[in-house]
Amino acid sequence: MKPSNMFKCRDCQTELLWGGDHMAEDHGLEGDGIVSNYTCQEEDCSVELVMIYTKG
Ligand SMILES: [Zn+2]
Repeated sequence: MKPSNMFKCRDCQTELLWGGDHMAEDHGLEGDGIVSNYTCQEEDCSVELVMIYTKG
């Protein structure tokens, strides 16, 4: 499910593009949390990937 609140890039303030959600255990984390990954849409920006961990 796509979250309604968007995150902005730390460096260029461009809206981050939601890439998907994964179970925390897929990333070697314990618990029932969700890891969401976001990418910056600005080509010249050095930020490639932002991952946000939400506790379950
Ligand atoms: Zn950026």
